Amino acid sequence: MSSWDNAPRIRILDPATINQIAAGEVVERPASVVKELVENAIDAGAGSVTIELASTKDAITAIRVTDDGCGMSPADADLAFVPHATSKISAIGDLNHIHTLGFRGEALATIAAVSRVTLVTKSAGSGPVPGTKMIVEGDKILETSGTGCPDGTNILVEDLFFNTPARKKFQKGRNTELAHIHDIVEGICLSHPEIAFHLVHNGTEQLVTDRTPRPLDTIARLFGSEVVHNLVWVEHSLPFIEIRGYISRPSLSRKDRARIVVSVNQRFISSAVINDAIKAGYGTLLPKDRFPVAFLSLNIDTTLVDVNVHPTKKQIRLSREKEITNAIRAAVRETLFSHDLIPSAESPRSSPVVLLEEMPPAAPTLYIHSDSRPPAVIAESTHTGTVSTDQRLRQTELAVGTEPASIVSSLLPEIEVIGEFGGIYILARTPAGELLIIDQHAAHERILYEQVSGQAAESRPSQELISPMVLHRSPKETAILKNLLPALADEGFVLEGFGGDSFLVRAVPVILGRLEESAIIDEIISDLVSEEAATAVTDRERITRIVSCRGAIKAGTVCSREQCQRIVDQLRRMNNPFTCPHGRPTMIRFTRHELDAMFRRI
Ligand code: ADP
Ligand code: MG
Repeated sequence: MSSWDNAPRIRILDPATINQIAAGEVVERPASVVKELVENAIDAGAGSVTIELASTKDAITAIRVTDDGCGMSPADADLAFVPHATSKISAIGDLNHIHTLGFRGEALATIAAVSRVTLVTKSAGSGPVPGTKMIVEGDKILETSGTGCPDGTNILVEDLFFNTPARKKFQKGRNTELAHIHDIVEGICLSHPEIAFHLVHNGTEQLVTDRTPRPLDTIARLFGSEVVHNLVWVEHSLPFIEIRGYISRPSLSRKDRARIVVSVNQRFISSAVINDAIKAGYGTLLPKDRFPVAFLSLNIDTTLVDVNVHPTKKQIRLSREKEITNAIRAAVRETLFSHDLIPSAESPRSSPVVLLEEMPPAAPTLYIHSDSRPPAVIAESTHTGTVSTDQRLRQTELAVGTEPASIVSSLLPEIEVIGEFGGIYILARTPAGELLIIDQHAAHERILYEQVSGQAAESRPSQELISPMVLHRSPKETAILKNLLPALADEGFVLEGFGGDSFLVRAVPVILGRLEESAIIDEIISDLVSEEAATAVTDRERITRIVSCRGAIKAGTVCSREQCQRIVDQLRRMNNPFTCPHGRPTMIRFTRHELDAMFRRI
């Protein structure tokens, strides 16, 4: 067309094109279809929802969602695929009081625009009147007929993106898509424990929940009883927000936020600010790069929640966001500080359904093979000049002793050591008559870690070595180490180049200085240059962790009862005595009741 033509270049798109464009926003991938259909089923008041998936090895080929909700009359079914047709709102003001998951009236229209949809529906209680069957493909109604069917709705979606090749090309592999569907269905199950869900893939049941008034049942069903065992109940109300749910004890954490599941007014959402508020509530109880497990259901005044931010409604906008996030942080914090946070041993009667990808170390086994030998005792160090346990304990005792006031607010009860096992575990009891098994190395590592991190100064104090130590490194390590020298200097390590690939260590952090142990310093530097830098933590944090790990009493070092008691007493003064700096538990508790159950005394 020449630009001199008088015909306008702007034209109004035809409805089919408009719908396909809209579909790009709502229907990104198969998981979006699942989400929209399941949400419609929930809005229809279903008590049971079944999601069936079929796939080849490359792609998901069909999605069917069946519900026993209110169904649709023939007239409603006719309108259901029309863009912007909804039974859920009628005017803009209704958006301030949204109690349904849908309201935009575009999901069915847009899904049908990019696939072939078969709808079978019957209005609940319509008696002998037949149900309706409709087949819609890429906007065209291919068939409408009466059909016999149960009350409720059954929607089958096939040939997704058949007419939008670009979108189809961007689909990830089948397993990625299945994982997305899993995540969405899990989130929805957790925000609607009152509904039974079934997820079936190629005829195999993947996930099942029962209708229950207790959200904990749903959590146990999805993630297993070990997770449930490590959760504590949160309940907190303010005039505009009600927070209920479960959060993990610090002993159960993850390297990502994937198990922070939040719903707002029963809508499963993802919100970075809410996730951050939950994590902030843990304060120092979790390392910076570890995240809690949390299942929270928030009821927020609907006028403060804008769900119409994005077509998928996965994000929300909150008015009074600061107050809301403060309330969440306070709820988490108060809950944690009012609970006994020592993790309990897993109950022997529980039967996990699905294992969490990453669990804290398993509870001790319940029986010992007759041929079992005591664990080999690992030599403390093969180098000469091995640091004695007493010396290692003293390095942390000096600093602890200077702040006797902190013991008043210990998060742990009085602990009395009764023995040790294998040079690895300290056995102890609490005044309440519980048995504690404490990981000696993890406990001492925690103590060192808090002491080193407690030295808040820009540069941490260092102590000169009586005789400087020479280190040799490979060319590659030399390059890495050179880059780390300033960060090391801030932490109290004074190293100088000593020609080629040699370095002279002149001073070390005070806390290590007391050890005067060249082997430990060598180990620390090796860890630093060999470990891949974790992106989530700063150099300072990484160095602190390595120093704590290497400076702490090693597993396999048999300690006297008195030495064990000193470790435990030091641990009681810590801000977070429950985990080592990497998030592993320092102790596990067995109540009398749990032991009795293991021995089948009850
Ligand atoms: P929205 O959910 O935003 O209203 P949809 O396109 O998802 O828009 O659905 C359009 C309408 O179709 C809904 O408002 C509802 O009346 C009806 N509908 C869709 N799915 C179901 C279902 N599973 N059961 C009963 N009615 C349904
Ligand atoms: Mg909808």
